[in-house]
Amino acid sequence: MGMMRLALASSTSSLIGYGITFLVAYGVALWISSVIWAWRDIRSRTQDFIFQIFAVGLAVVFPGLGLLVYLVLRPRQTLADLYERQLEEESLLAEMTERQTCPTCHYRVESDFQICPSCSTKLRRSCPRCDHLLELKWNACPYCGYGAGEGGRSSARSSSRPV
Ligand SMILES: [Zn+2]
Ligand SMILES: [Zn+2]
Repeated sequence: MGMMRLALASSTSSLIGYGITFLVAYGVALWISSVIWAWRDIRSRTQDFIFQIFAVGLAVVFPGLGLLVYLVLRPRQTLADLYERQLEEESLLAEMTERQTCPTCHYRVESDFQICPSCSTKLRRSCPRCDHLLELKWNACPYCGYGAGEGGRSSARSSSRPV
């Protein structure tokens, strides 16, 4: 009887021992993977070495809680996101400058066309002094200064006069 009770007690305590070992190992595994995750995550978000060390330090020193703090403080966008957005903006800009269309018929026109080849809408006029192409709404020529300094209305009148 006494032997039985002893065996039961030892098996119970060894079970608890196994349990504790398992929990500790589990915790350590979680902790290590959280540190690795923080390291990978911060590297995808910033190239600032100080910030990288700070993020990993948080995960190392405060297991679990440090990760929460890091989630709050980390840069919102990843570098890949930023790069993608930059590309998007650039392509949008390129499209805006490269693909101009006629305001009347939306035919594709080049930036140095004076009229639309499809519907003959006047797109630009050339400067009477330097022959640079000017936007129709410009009152003065930005290349040679023609029409500047006299105010919008008088310059429009003087531009019809030969110089
Ligand atoms: Zn047109
Ligand atoms: Zn000019």
